[in-house]
Amino acid sequence: MVKKIEQENKELYQCEECGYKYEDEEWAEKCEAWCREHKSCNLEINKHVLQDRHQ
Ligand SMILES: [Zn+2]
Repeated sequence: MVKKIEQENKELYQCEECGYKYEDEEWAEKCEAWCREHKSCNLEINKHVLQDRHQ
C-alpha cells in the first residue's frame, strides 16, 4: 500500500517498496506496482519523484 505522509503542509504519497515520494497518488501507486514486480526502478515513473530540496 502506498503510504500517505505529510511534509511541509503538503500531502505526499510514498512508495513503500523504494521509499520515493510523489505529490500524485497515482504515480506512487504505479511506482509501487512496478517496484514490487520488477525489483528495479522505472525511469518514466521516476521522473515524477518529488525531489527533497532541503537537506
Ligand atoms: Zn517504488
